[in-house]
Amino acid sequence: MIPYGRQDIRPEDLEAVREVLTSDFLTQGPKVPAFEASVAKATGAAHAVAVNSATSALHIACLALDLGPGDILWTSPITFVASANVGHLCGAEVDFVDIDPDTFNMCPQALETKLKAAKSSGRLPKVIMPVHMCGQSADMARIGALAREFGCKVVEDASHAIGGRYLDRPVGDCAHSDICVFSFHPVKIVTTAEGGVATTQSDALAARMERLRTHGVTRDEALMEGASEGGWYYQQIELGLNYRMTEMQAALGVTQMERLDDYVARRNALADRYDRVLGNMPLKRPGRQDGAYSAFHLYVVRVEAEKRREIFDALRADGIGVNVHYIPVHLQPYWARHGFKPGDFPNAEAYYGGAISIPLYPGMTEADQDRVVTSLAAACVRD
Ligand SMILES: *Cc1c(COP(=O)(O)O)cnc(C)c1O
Repeated sequence: MIPYGRQDIRPEDLEAVREVLTSDFLTQGPKVPAFEASVAKATGAAHAVAVNSATSALHIACLALDLGPGDILWTSPITFVASANVGHLCGAEVDFVDIDPDTFNMCPQALETKLKAAKSSGRLPKVIMPVHMCGQSADMARIGALAREFGCKVVEDASHAIGGRYLDRPVGDCAHSDICVFSFHPVKIVTTAEGGVATTQSDALAARMERLRTHGVTRDEALMEGASEGGWYYQQIELGLNYRMTEMQAALGVTQMERLDDYVARRNALADRYDRVLGNMPLKRPGRQDGAYSAFHLYVVRVEAEKRREIFDALRADGIGVNVHYIPVHLQPYWARHGFKPGDFPNAEAYYGGAISIPLYPGMTEADQDRVVTSLAAACVRD
């Protein structure tokens, strides 16, 4: 079976994790700050806060921006369910903005129209969460400008996009957002097994997220009510969680991050090759966003909706681990119970109807890729 994605684990990764296991700290030691420094360096962000998943990072990002009951979060319907879930976890309402049919990212035009309507009805979102689908940045200059105009905060769900670039700057430098979140799940670009990082340029937001990941507790006397009672003393000054990353995960992240640029370059080379060899087939290749260098977490082709299931099954039967990213979130039963229905976001639904993610990962050989292409070609012409 050729999987749709696969982690790359090298001897130096094994050694780094083994070293931690025989050291003094399995958690709250030096590896988490080292991993955070590597992500800050790669993205150009002033701060990187590591937690146990991207879902946790999105959650504390929204909490740090004071998203709560009475507030509204908007995200893209073409994402993993976590992007929307964190809105409800904060007690906020959630709504979606339809996608651009070529890039599969939140459509700035649709966003503008929806913001104008929301302003007149007094229901503007507090947080807008664009998703860099497949690793390609959304049109952040326009989304960021609209957010400023309408007084909204922006959290980028860049789970797919570490190592990507937008207008010659790394995704994660928050040039058009308040906070940017990456996932380090094994199918993503680099892995810590489970893990997430939130980057920001704001000292205050970073300090708040660091506190929220560890129970809302502080040892900073300046933040305490009254004086410290001694060297042991801490205060819980707000409600937080235990979202900490372990030292083993962070050590793996440090060695993985050293290969970030190589991984993304390899993914782009394979994606370019897919673009070339799939050119004559009856399918749509992924569109490119102006000014974006994608991290190419995923390569999604679109086939005729009536044939998608048959093509998907034929590829799976051939040992090609295709997948579909994503079922539109608003169509999930949980979200349907909150008032969403088919037809609400037509571009997202049309995209979903024909989407197939074909294998793409750095360890993939050209021979593997040729097998995918041969199988896909045969499946597309079959009647
Ligand atoms: C993977 C993913 C998440 C969640 O990441 P975890 O690290 O598994 O919590 C959120 N959003 C998107 C778009 C993702 O692909």
